[in-house]
Amino acid sequence: MLMGKEARGFKGGFDLLDAYPLKFCNIVEDISSDGTPETFHFSVPSQKVEHVIVSLCPTEPWALPNWVILRHKTTAFLTILKEIKNSYFSDARFYIAINEKEDRTVTDAKNFACNEDWMSVFPLYAKYPQDDPVVLTKVILGMDVNFGQDTKSLGVLILDAQTVSAMYESRILRKNVNSRFIVLSGTGLKENEILNVQLGTSIEKILKNKVKEVVRHRVFINGPLRGQEITDLSQKTDWSVNHIVVLEEKDQKVMFPMIKPDELVLTTNLLGELRRCIYCNYCDDICPVDLEPALYYHSYTRGEKHKARLYNLGKCIECGLCSFICPSKLELLEIIKECKALDKQK
Ligand code: SF4
Ligand code: SF4
Repeated sequence: MLMGKEARGFKGGFDLLDAYPLKFCNIVEDISSDGTPETFHFSVPSQKVEHVIVSLCPTEPWALPNWVILRHKTTAFLTILKEIKNSYFSDARFYIAINEKEDRTVTDAKNFACNEDWMSVFPLYAKYPQDDPVVLTKVILGMDVNFGQDTKSLGVLILDAQTVSAMYESRILRKNVNSRFIVLSGTGLKENEILNVQLGTSIEKILKNKVKEVVRHRVFINGPLRGQEITDLSQKTDWSVNHIVVLEEKDQKVMFPMIKPDELVLTTNLLGELRRCIYCNYCDDICPVDLEPALYYHSYTRGEKHKARLYNLGKCIECGLCSFICPSKLELLEIIKECKALDKQK
């Protein structure tokens, strides 16, 4: 017997889903690889897994929505999960984190859990970056994980819905899983789409005929906030590619982007007009791990990069929210990464 738990959260963060709701084309297009597609393989961790967190709580609007995998059949998904538990992690406890706004999914999961003592349901406020491993592990298990630390070393495995589905198909149904859903979105595209892409397909092939003509654009793998901007589109997709965001390049700064929620403004100072910190403290307020990003900026501009480390720099989870919210569009995360890298250079 299991009790559903109340939603818990953290200070800071930002409700991206609310600010930037995205509409997707309903048709899921298949894209095949030019070569032999790679096959999904799940390696069972060598360490004993005591806790499995299943994240059904995506917090970025460009992430794969739950309905693509669950198909509004939560009970069927949880039945699959039970088979996975029995096959791989019979001693582990499972925690299902669900966006609290997805009422039907939460209710179905709670009803299912009433008869299952191996799982708990956690309805959560899906503000970004609630689904980050550091935040998720803290909120659900009360455990401290360092940024970049492999949670498996602590006996914690975090799975998303798509990986659960692939584990079931490959290890239990013995199917050859060689494709995954990838979400394509952004102001630089003709439309937002969900694709079923064979592993090993190039980004170039995925984007063919989908980018708006005559716009300069930037391509981000796994989102503009914590993902990576790429310029080499020949790069192949693997299981780690969840979404591709293509943004129209804007080379003019926009004052106070937070009052323009219809635009995802990720401009840089391409015009060379560096702005100053205006001490608004927005970056401090939004930081989900209670840091003060402006301190890093001021240490950096004073030429005291090493001093930045005195202010808990190592706790930064590189979510990118401080850069996102800064009205002066200062590249705070870039500065933070540069300061962090000083440790590695030693
Ligand atoms: S990137 Fe780091 S400092 Fe900036 S908001 Fe995120 S956790 Fe805080
Ligand atoms: S959000 Fe930008 S301008 Fe405001 S305090 Fe932080 S660094 Fe300064």
